Amino acid sequence: MAADEPKFTLIKADRLIDGVGEAPIEGAALLMEDSEIVEIGRQADVRAPDGASVTEVDYGDATIVPGLVDCHTHLCAPGDGTVGDEIAKERHQILLLQAAKNARTILHSGVTTIRENGAMGQVTINLKEGIRRGLAVGPKMVICARPIAITGGHMGYWGSEVDGPWEARAEVRKLLKEGADYIKITATGGSTRTSDPNRASFTVEELRNITEEAHNAGVLTAAHCTSAQGVQNCLDAEVDMIIHCVFNEPDGKFTDRPDLIERLIEADAWVNPTLHVTRAAISNWEERRQTEGLTKEQEADLDGQKRELETRVKSVANMIDQGVKMVAGSDSPWGYYAPGEFIYEMEMLERAGLTSSDAMLAGTSWSAASIGVSDSSGLLAPGRRADVLVAGGDPLGGVKALWDVRDVYQAGQRVERGVR
Ligand SMILES: [Zn+2]
Repeated sequence: MAADEPKFTLIKADRLIDGVGEAPIEGAALLMEDSEIVEIGRQADVRAPDGASVTEVDYGDATIVPGLVDCHTHLCAPGDGTVGDEIAKERHQILLLQAAKNARTILHSGVTTIRENGAMGQVTINLKEGIRRGLAVGPKMVICARPIAITGGHMGYWGSEVDGPWEARAEVRKLLKEGADYIKITATGGSTRTSDPNRASFTVEELRNITEEAHNAGVLTAAHCTSAQGVQNCLDAEVDMIIHCVFNEPDGKFTDRPDLIERLIEADAWVNPTLHVTRAAISNWEERRQTEGLTKEQEADLDGQKRELETRVKSVANMIDQGVKMVAGSDSPWGYYAPGEFIYEMEMLERAGLTSSDAMLAGTSWSAASIGVSDSSGLLAPGRRADVLVAGGDPLGGVKALWDVRDVYQAGQRVERGVR
């Protein structure tokens, strides 16, 4: 075969879910030509042109779905419980290697697109370029490079601390010049030692300057919000995605805020609740209790985390009922949330009330729409980039079926995942 001859791959499985929410195609086939999908349909109807060179794989009892889209990662974290303040002390070169390792694990798990929510310095800018050059293996990346924080604010240690409207605006320009695809803001404190998760950080004026500058450049914004005031400030400043979306008061008490829920719906904002990251911490502590026991303080801390998770699941269930647009973003490998386990977050959205079909969409086409990559990621259709996951069983009976990865295709190429 001549090198410039088109290369076809025909894959078959018992069913195919295209990511649009229609009923699955039974006895399905998907034809790829080089990096693109050319045809989707029933096995009897889809075939490569006569005489063309075609690789054919029949996966049998499996489902063909779009490559998953995780709208929230932190690639330079190890996912073993190391806190951000400590990660920030590592050399950038080590963090780049950590990020490359995570990117590979994430791709192998079936996630073919991620939105990176903040890493040290230029780590993700370099990794994205490295993947483009074939120096590293990983998903398609949408990056913010570094989140914008106030001085001492959450994740300010990655290198983008600013104060005042003009400094904030200038940092947006700087990040875009460096290669950011969207702008991430930490609008409240978080786990960062010098910050308070229950209090807002930027003023509305500062936030408005950031979103205006980003929107002027045609890019989206997303904000970390773990306090009610932070959510309110971000809605005032027209931030596109609210991350975590916790309605805590400065004293740490969670409040029901029907007014803010109404505003989220009015604004048509996306919410990325990040539920599993807390569950991952709880599981880790419970394991440690078995092996080495916990101190009284640690027991109290564990109880607190369990109560927090329960409150959060209830709050997300309520938001889903009211019609808030939810997307799946893992936050991994932050905290104890290991990379390559995105399905856990999709399972948590199921637990909070999404149907399995909607949880699939939250981790594919909705997630892609929320990060502005609908034209390339999150659904299967002719003419689109062939990013495909083949998983055993049927995810419409529970997204946990997606754990059974049979194969991953990235831009039409079967990903070599090694022996497992
Ligand atoms: Zn995060």
